[in-house]
Amino acid sequence: MDQLTRTRIPTPFSVGSVNCYQLTGNGVTVVDPGPATDEAYEVVADSLATDGYEIAEIDRILITHPHMDHFGQASRLVEASGADVVAHEHAVDRLADPIAHFKREQAYFRPFLRSMGMPTDAVDTVLELPEPYTEYQAPVTVTDPVADGDTVDAGVTLECVSTPGHVPGSVSFLAAAEDAMFTGDHVLPDITPNPLLTVAPDATDERTRSLPAYIEALETVLELEATVGYGGHGEPMSDLHGRVRETIDHHEERKEHVAELVADAEPVTAYAIMKEMFPELPATEMFSGMSEVIGHLDLLADEDRVRITERDGVDHYELLEPTDG
Ligand SMILES: [Zn+2]
Ligand SMILES: [Zn+2]
Repeated sequence: MDQLTRTRIPTPFSVGSVNCYQLTGNGVTVVDPGPATDEAYEVVADSLATDGYEIAEIDRILITHPHMDHFGQASRLVEASGADVVAHEHAVDRLADPIAHFKREQAYFRPFLRSMGMPTDAVDTVLELPEPYTEYQAPVTVTDPVADGDTVDAGVTLECVSTPGHVPGSVSFLAAAEDAMFTGDHVLPDITPNPLLTVAPDATDERTRSLPAYIEALETVLELEATVGYGGHGEPMSDLHGRVRETIDHHEERKEHVAELVADAEPVTAYAIMKEMFPELPATEMFSGMSEVIGHLDLLADEDRVRITERDGVDHYELLEPTDG
């Protein structure tokens, strides 16, 4: 793609650097400006300077999803440039007030994790562990909320494709004329993103069904014509559909493994399955462990392969016998 620059911005997180893309075909467009650190600011400034631009000249900032390694310094760039901010409509509230979102999550997941069989002391530890990381993200106002099918003129036309699952409000940008797609963390070359459970974006008091949403959004990408994938981390993907299929296959295998564990132990709680799958999991990783197991149980429930019965406020899963014919 002409007039496209990829910049690797260091982050303080275990994922390593995050990709920031700059397009200069219609003014200056920045996709995912990176976390709110002085280093990230300087890296973006240096990268723009290489192309002959300054931060003050940024016209629009596109945010693929509301995770701080991707959007954290957006508001600082807006202050310096007056740039428009484009993000999915389901990301608007979370971007405007990330801390309120964090608190909503904590309140929701305390009773929910109990209902999944997690002991109270473990729930307390898991929910007290994460910090809001206020130093790496600043609230940002989305000026241009987008939904499926909306377009952005970045020199090349970018079509917005809603790709929830990794997180609600994830959007990918299809550059059909270039046979390419900016995928954020929806599709990544080296890791399969864990669709973490979170609270629904519409402020109803419900959790997301993250993994079923994620698989559906992966299948959406297979219907689009895009060979090259520009992800939020790692090198560009030269076979986007191939990588999507690998990711779907990975989850299919995991789902069958979870089905076997349910069959071996039924009736069983999600927490017991997580302990069986990941016996050594440290408390810091338990929320993603629970997200993974519950995601696969959601998939099995959608296929009518499990029965869920509540006992003393705790959900127990049983595998239904496969019916022939
Ligand atoms: Zn992410
Ligand atoms: Zn990321």
